[in-house]
Amino acid sequence: MKKIKNYINGNIITTSKDFLPIFDPSKGEKIGEVVNSNSHDFDDVIKSSENAFNEWSRYTPLKRSRVLSKYKEIIEKNITELAKTISEEHGKTLDDAKGSVIRGLEVVEFACGIPHLLKGEFSQNVGTDIDSWSIRQPLGITAGITPFNFPAMVPMWMYPLSIACGNSFILKPSEKDPSCSLKLAEFFSDAGLPDGVFNVINGDKHVVNKILENEKISSISFVGSTPVAKYIYETSSKFGKRVQALGGAKNHLIVMPDANLDQAVDGIMGAAFGSAGERCMAVSVAVAVGDIGDKLVDQINDKAQSLKVAPWTDDQAQMGPVISKEHKDKIESYIDSGVNEGAKLILDGRNLKIQGYENGYFVGPTIFDSVTKEMQIYKNEIFGPVLSVVRASNYEEALDLVNEHQFGNGTSIYTSDGEISRNFTTNSKIGMVGVNVPIPVPMAFHSFGGWKQSLFGDHAMHGIEGIRFYTKLKTITSRWPNSIVKGPEFKMPTN
Ligand code: NAD
Repeated sequence: MKKIKNYINGNIITTSKDFLPIFDPSKGEKIGEVVNSNSHDFDDVIKSSENAFNEWSRYTPLKRSRVLSKYKEIIEKNITELAKTISEEHGKTLDDAKGSVIRGLEVVEFACGIPHLLKGEFSQNVGTDIDSWSIRQPLGITAGITPFNFPAMVPMWMYPLSIACGNSFILKPSEKDPSCSLKLAEFFSDAGLPDGVFNVINGDKHVVNKILENEKISSISFVGSTPVAKYIYETSSKFGKRVQALGGAKNHLIVMPDANLDQAVDGIMGAAFGSAGERCMAVSVAVAVGDIGDKLVDQINDKAQSLKVAPWTDDQAQMGPVISKEHKDKIESYIDSGVNEGAKLILDGRNLKIQGYENGYFVGPTIFDSVTKEMQIYKNEIFGPVLSVVRASNYEEALDLVNEHQFGNGTSIYTSDGEISRNFTTNSKIGMVGVNVPIPVPMAFHSFGGWKQSLFGDHAMHGIEGIRFYTKLKTITSRWPNSIVKGPEFKMPTN
């Protein structure tokens, strides 16, 4: 049975004897253990990160970029191995796992442009013989705390940019699927990254607290559930750290009466049930406007019935299990509550048994119609394959639903009306907005982040926001009063 330790200073090590279980969600069996690190491990990681920062921050941006290019090549060569590691512990299909690594690699690709991205601003003669310019300098030791649902991609929203900016980075991955982080760290060493620039420390909330309280760590990047994001934001701020903490979501997709229904239905299928709904950009609410509701629900129901729910080892699988027994129970109790509160259960994913995988944490696609905003299934994030359809009589009512919800991660509208589309992109109080696309996840060169209870802090992840987060701005004003007098007279060339 595998025992996952830490990756500190280029070594796979730990001195802790405390281990947490890792499960295969398809079978419901324990397949390994991950270390719950102790204070000694933690001191080691800080020492290593501090030493590494001193060396790495002096590398030229071009040299850092070359290490990142090599890293990208190595991951590309090993993508299937990495994806299998993700699927084994997370349960998602292999295609989903591979797709997520590719999205993460796009951030590495973006970070390769660091010599250009770090270029500052310059103004000559802000006063007589006075010039002024700005530079962005690394912070020092930075840290990331990540969720179970994207064990490669979400860390890759953070560390490629932090490291490209000249920082060292400590990753504390989810204890539920930690194995791929060690692989990501080993590949970086193979690419020539000096030891200690990227360290991985495993464990639960006790390790997180050590990170938040440590005075040598300058910044915290967090992605996970809203209550923990809020706690991370408040605690990190109290300890004087820069912090970006991304939380949960309840993403609405509005279908207008003039929408291309087939496209909307296809979009909803992938967005609601892909990765068993365990995506922060999953669509969990479809808002049917006007008279489109009946047709929409019928078509989604038809398609959802034929979705193949199976373990990732089955290459026909379209949806795998959810992460844990506790999470399966929580999702099923939300379905119970929807029934009790009067929503119309169109498709019931409870009590699904897959032959040969009877103990797996499978929940089938579930659809509720006539959901109202007072219901628990509407108010809260379920984080499973449960779609709520809410009926709205017009666009204004649909927009109010989006804007009044506590979460503000993503939203989308399907319509063929340009005026409505423009109104929606302007007036929706949401961080990431789509028009006729189901999951508006920004590319690496834009930035990812929600509003309201979906993000605490001022900076979204990757893109230019990422560069700003991982660097400190310095502005220099410099005066050389004799420089003009000393030089030859300046004349414009004649041609
Ligand atoms: P989680 O909040 O339970 O855990 C995230 C991380 O925090 C893990 O590393 C965990 O060890 C640590 N942690 C857990 N409880 C803690 C505590 N009490 N104190 C300190 N640290 C703690 O989240 P999860 O279940 O792993 O992931 C699912 C959640 O992540 C969902 O809510 C989902 O919406 C969210 N998510 C958000 C985004 C986004 O971009 N907004 C992206 C992915 C996932």
